[in-house]
Amino acid sequence: MSAHLVLAVLAILAVRVGFLYLAPFGPCPKCKGTGHIKRGPRRRPVCPRCKGQRRIQRTGSRTVHRLARKIRHGRQAAARYQQEDRDGTP
Ligand SMILES: [Zn+2]
Repeated sequence: MSAHLVLAVLAILAVRVGFLYLAPFGPCPKCKGTGHIKRGPRRRPVCPRCKGQRRIQRTGSRTVHRLARKIRHGRQAAARYQQEDRDGTP
């Protein structure tokens, strides 16, 4: 029972990470993608959350991309090392 729950949580996390990797930006929830907000007598036309960009970086996407870069970099380093090892040994 709990094993299924853990698997379900892991699957959801994997989907979430993949989604964040493919779509790190999403429409700003504060201005609903318009870039401007209307609020009371004091008008602030530019949305303070996205600063008028109309989209924001999703929470965690930065971490996902940093990890992806690290994995890519690590693979390249490993490949280089293997190549050097192959060519360099007398
Ligand atoms: Zn906004």
